[in-house]
Amino acid sequence: MLVVMKAQATEEQIKAVCDHIEFLGYRPHPMPGAQRTAIGITGNQGEANRGNLEEMPGVAEVIKVSKPYKLASRDVKEEDTVIRFAGTDATIGGGSLAVVAGPCSIESREQAFAIAEQVAAAGAQFFRGGAYKPRTSPYAFQGLGLDALKIMAEIRDRLGLRIITEAIDNETLDLVAEWADVVQIGARNMQNFSLLKHAGRLRMPVLLKRGMSATLDEFLMAAEYIMSEGNYEVILCERGVRTFADHTRNTLDLSIVPAVQKLSHLPILVDPSHGTGKRDKVLPMARGAVAVGADGVLVEVHHQPEKALSDGPQSIYPEQFAQMVNEIEQIAPIVNRKLHRGIRVETAAK
Ligand code: PEP
Ligand code: MN
Repeated sequence: MLVVMKAQATEEQIKAVCDHIEFLGYRPHPMPGAQRTAIGITGNQGEANRGNLEEMPGVAEVIKVSKPYKLASRDVKEEDTVIRFAGTDATIGGGSLAVVAGPCSIESREQAFAIAEQVAAAGAQFFRGGAYKPRTSPYAFQGLGLDALKIMAEIRDRLGLRIITEAIDNETLDLVAEWADVVQIGARNMQNFSLLKHAGRLRMPVLLKRGMSATLDEFLMAAEYIMSEGNYEVILCERGVRTFADHTRNTLDLSIVPAVQKLSHLPILVDPSHGTGKRDKVLPMARGAVAVGADGVLVEVHHQPEKALSDGPQSIYPEQFAQMVNEIEQIAPIVNRKLHRGIRVETAAK
C-alpha cells in the first residue's frame, strides 16, 4: 500500500502519517519526490489495514500497489532516483552519465595506483577494485582483503575518485561499508537474502549486480530486499546472463535497461566487461549501453592485463578506456545525458 501526500503536506503531517502506519503495526517508508511525498508501507501480510489513513490531514490518497516490488517501483516514486556523494559533484542517476573503472582485483598498491591515475585522468568518477573476490575455484586468488580496502581509501584521498568494492558475505560487509563509498553485491549473491537485508541496514549506496540467471522481477525483488530495510540508495547493474552463446562469457542483456526504467526509479549501470568477457567487445557494448539509456558504465581496466590475477582477458587497456570515455561522451547528448569528466571534491574550508 502507498499513501500519497498532498503537494502542500507539512513535515508534521508526514510524520503523523508515519506514526499512524507504525501504530497499525507496519513500517513506513517516506519517499520525498519533486511534486509530493509518497509513503510506502511494508510489513503487512496480505492486504494492509487502512486505519484512519485516508482521513488524515495532508493525505491525498491511499492506493494499493499491485506489483510485488513496492519501494523499487515507479508507483511509489515517479522521478528517477539520483544518488549523490557528499562533498563531490558526482552523481549516479538523473541527467549525468557515471563512469566506474578499475581492475577486477586490487593486486598491489603499485598496480592499483597505476590504473587509478590513468582512469582518473581519462574522466572516471568512481574507482572499482575487488578486495574480496568470489572465485569459482577456492585455489584462485581470493583478494587482498583489508589491505586492498586501505589501498582504495588512499586512492580516494589522493585522487578524489569514490570507491566501489564488493562485499561477499555479512562479515566483509561491515568492513567494506567502513572503507568504501559504495558497497557492491555481486551476481552470485543477488539472492543472498541475508546479505541483502544486512546491506539494507546500511545508510550508504549499494550497487546490486544482476544474478546470472535472474529475471527482471527477481532483480527488482532483490533491490526491494535492500530497500525494505530502509536503504533506498540502490544502484542496479546489468552484467550479462548465462545463455547458450559461447562467443562471449555472458550475454549482455541491454534490453533490461529500458525495461527497468519503465518499472523502477532506480538507476541502472551496465558492465560490458563481465557482460562479454572479451576485451574487444567491451567498447562496442559500452557504446550500446549508453545508447539504450543506461545511467553509466562499469568497466574493468588493467595496465598489464596479461599479468592480471583475475579477469585479464576482459580488462581493457587504459588507452582503450580513454577512447571509450571519448566515444560515450559523444553518444550521451543523444539520450539527453551529459558525461561530466572526473570528480570535483570540495576542499575543507580553511
Ligand atoms: C566483479 O565486479 O568483479 C564481479 C565479480 O562481478 P559479477 O558479480 O558481476 O560477476
Ligand atoms: Mn571481474
